[in-house]
Amino acid sequence: MGEEWKRSMSEPLATGKAYRFDQSFVAASSIAQQYYCEAKVEQSYVHGDIPSEAKEAGTSLHEEVLAMEKVELKDLVERIEKAPLLTASFGVHGRILDVDVAGMPDAVVFEKSVPRWVIELKTTKGDPTRLWDDQLVQVRVYGLLLEKMGFDCSKMWLALVRWRQEDVRGPRKEEMLSRITRSLMRGETKELEARFGMRFFLFRHDAGEAERAVAWAQGYWLGRRGAVPSSSPGKCKICEYSAICPYSLVKFSLDSAAERRALPRNTWGTGPDSSSRTSGSSSPVRK
Ligand code: SF4
Repeated sequence: MGEEWKRSMSEPLATGKAYRFDQSFVAASSIAQQYYCEAKVEQSYVHGDIPSEAKEAGTSLHEEVLAMEKVELKDLVERIEKAPLLTASFGVHGRILDVDVAGMPDAVVFEKSVPRWVIELKTTKGDPTRLWDDQLVQVRVYGLLLEKMGFDCSKMWLALVRWRQEDVRGPRKEEMLSRITRSLMRGETKELEARFGMRFFLFRHDAGEAERAVAWAQGYWLGRRGAVPSSSPGKCKICEYSAICPYSLVKFSLDSAAERRALPRNTWGTGPDSSSRTSGSSSPVRK
């Protein structure tokens, strides 16, 4: 493997370019969420994040399972080079088609300094056996960013691990990441699925698939089109923005003006460029 990945890891991310909402890069997680409901991504930038008990529970479980030793970048580079097997989480970034994209995968497993697995853990209150497009897009984009950074991704696979929140309890959850890693490296995940009720979705890294996902998503960030709302009433029903979203398919009996006042103010900021782009020139089409 060449040295390019070392340079990429220490390169600053800021590009000076401005996408919608004055973002200097597009978050891989936002691209993923566009595949759930693009209007929701827009609502989150305009109105800010709306906390919920379920979201907070999910985040804290996620952090507990993925807890890792914090090291300096120099140490991380050295460990990637020298450790026979290493699991790490770090920022990945690169240019995909016409946009600069960045994100932080939950874990990347290196064997002899070559990435073998990108792992995304998703805790859910619903059915862990169901695969969602947005989650697949997220892990695919992380894979492509690793490739763009110069890592040898020819033997890399992607693992989307879905786990029911109620099954994540228990004193041993801190050990789960190393169990998952060992199982993936052995090619044996059935035991963990049977014992802990999790579900593994495994895919070979595919740069073309990741690029195709970004090709549609970038149109929104480049101001070429407006946000596309979901066509699923079920998604609108559980959406924290449904009382204020102009595309909501659920009618609320609550006074919408009161709802608006209760919402947090925009914490992201919108520049003159973004507001003109936000209005969009094309009518949104439901996905
Ligand atoms: S209410 Fe429906 S269309 Fe609007 S952001 Fe939420 S999920 Fe999307």
